[in-house]
Amino acid sequence: MALNFRHALVTGGGSGIGKAIAEALAQAGVTVTICGRRVEALNAVAEGNPNIHVQVADVTDEDSVTQLYERAQAARGPFDIVIANAGMAVSAPAGKTSLDLWQQTMNVNLTGAFLSVRPAVDTMRKAGGGRIVFIASIAGLKGAPYISAYVASKHGVVGLTRALAAELAHTEITVNAICPGYVETPMLERTVANIVAKTGRDEDSARAAVTKDNPQGRIITPQEVADTVLWLCGDGARSVTGQAIAMAGGEA
Ligand code: NAP
Repeated sequence: MALNFRHALVTGGGSGIGKAIAEALAQAGVTVTICGRRVEALNAVAEGNPNIHVQVADVTDEDSVTQLYERAQAARGPFDIVIANAGMAVSAPAGKTSLDLWQQTMNVNLTGAFLSVRPAVDTMRKAGGGRIVFIASIAGLKGAPYISAYVASKHGVVGLTRALAAELAHTEITVNAICPGYVETPMLERTVANIVAKTGRDEDSARAAVTKDNPQGRIITPQEVADTVLWLCGDGARSVTGQAIAMAGGEA
């Protein structure tokens, strides 16, 4: 599938879902800039893929994101696709969620998503179109225990999606959120390890526990999320905007 866009930013492109999205966009002929804090992880994704380029950046740091945009766009042209994917998840009961964990989660998942997308809005307007996709979570659409900061941050991302889509509806820029259930990535590995450590269960039963609310009872692959991004970036999805697309086996 070839796309009519030229340069994509994928935040958190050094692992998991971001890596799958970057590789899928590059395969579709788009020049991709990936960012994150760990240069080794980013380089490992870009190695052997001439369509993928690396910029070290922290999405919580406004200056860092500004520099990322300046360098990447000077080298390869304006971003016409931005995938705000970088995120973090740490579980804790609400009463034991420290202010530090709360603020860190908001900074990465919500403020980081906003900062990642903000500079692209005007350049996409000038260019006459673009695609913005937030990787939110099914936790952006419903509550779940022991992850109150994560749930609140991802509900915020869905709200940001809807606000931006309303503001940009008269342009050729679409803005959507993808809301997956559990996806097979390093983040899930850490979640499973945490359940094993805290409950003494074995890994199989920890994995069964994370899919218990998913009617399909399965863990989603990063490729499935990447395929949905490709669809949203295609011409066929130009009327799809302001949507929070659940990918969670029917979980509601
Ligand atoms: P992951 O492998 O841990 O990826 C997270 C990525 O975000 C990493 O590459 C990390 O890179 C980057 N990142 C974190 N903080 C950053 C910061 N301050 N600045 C720049 N980059 C930062 O986990 P994943 O599962 O692929 O997660 C990707 C997104 O999917 C997240 O938003 C997550 O909430 C969402 N999601 C995941 C699942 C799941 O079950 N896995 C389900 C629903 C939604 P560095 O560490 O190098 O900075």
